[in-house]
Amino acid sequence: MESKNVLVTGASRGIGRAAAFRFAKGGYHVFLNCCTSVDELNEVRRGIEEVYQGSCEVVCGDVGNPKDVASMFEQIYRSCGCLDVLVNNAGISHIGLLMDMGDDDWRKVIDTNLSSVFYCCRKAIPPMISRQSGKIINISSMWGTSGASCEVAYSASKAGVNGLTKALAKELAPSNIQVNAIACGVIDTKMNMQLSEEERKTLENEIPAGRYGTAEEIAQVAWDLAHAPGYLTGQVIGVDGGYL
Ligand code: NDP
Repeated sequence: MESKNVLVTGASRGIGRAAAFRFAKGGYHVFLNCCTSVDELNEVRRGIEEVYQGSCEVVCGDVGNPKDVASMFEQIYRSCGCLDVLVNNAGISHIGLLMDMGDDDWRKVIDTNLSSVFYCCRKAIPPMISRQSGKIINISSMWGTSGASCEVAYSASKAGVNGLTKALAKELAPSNIQVNAIACGVIDTKMNMQLSEEERKTLENEIPAGRYGTAEEIAQVAWDLAHAPGYLTGQVIGVDGGYL
C-alpha cells in the first residue's frame, strides 16, 4: 500500500520535530521543513531513516515568504500528488512591550506565524479538493485565545490562526477536508529556554498540571487529529495542562 504524505513545517526541533517523528513512526512519508537550522533538520532526517526505517525528504524554506512556499510545494508535488496531512507548526515568539516593537519585527511575527498558514494551505488545498480528503492541523497557542502581556504580536498572530482555522474549516467541510488547531499551553522547547530557573518554577506553579507540556504530547494530539472522524472540524483544542 502506498504510504501517506505529511508536511510538517518547523520540523528541526521542538514540537515540529516530535510531530515528524510521530508521523514517521506511523508509516507516513514526511516532508521536513525549516528555514535556517538545516543541520538540525538533517539530524531529524537521519533519525527518521535510521531509527524508524522511515522515509522523508527535506524541503527548506521560509514559510513566511510566498516564493519559498511555492518552491517547497513544487518539490513536494514532484514527489507526491497530494498531501494527506499538513501540519502548520513553524512559529516564532517576540517578547517585549508593543510600544517598543518595530515594523520589521511585527511583520516577521505575523508573516511567520499567520501568513505562513495561508501560504501553505493555499498550495496544499487544490489536490486535497480533487481527492475529497485531507487534514490541516495548525499549531496555535493559548495566548491566541486569552492574550499575553508583552506578547501582543504573537497573541494577535495566533488569534488569527484560530480565526483562519474556524473559517477555513467551514469552507472545506463540503470537500471532506478537516481543519483544526491545537492551542498549546507552555511546552518544553527552545522557545521557552530564555526563562531563568526561578521564572520557570513560578510558571509551573501557575499551571494546574504543575509542569510544562512536552513536545511529544502535542505531537500525539496532532496525530490523533489527523486520524479523527471527519465530523471533527473547525475546533481549537486546548492542550495546556488546565491553564485556561
Ligand atoms: P521552536 O523554536 O523549538 O521551533 C520552531 C521551529 O520553527 C524550528 O524548526 C524553526 O526552524 C522553525 N521556523 C521558524 N521560523 C520559520 C520560518 N520562517 N520558516 C520555516 N520554519 C521556521 O518552537 P516550538 O517547537 O516551541 O514551537 C512550534 C510551534 O508551537 C510554534 O508555532 C509556536 O508558536 C507554537 N507554540 C509553542 C509553545 C511553547 O510553549 N513552546 C506554546 C504555544 C504554541 P528554523 O529556526 O530553522 O527556522
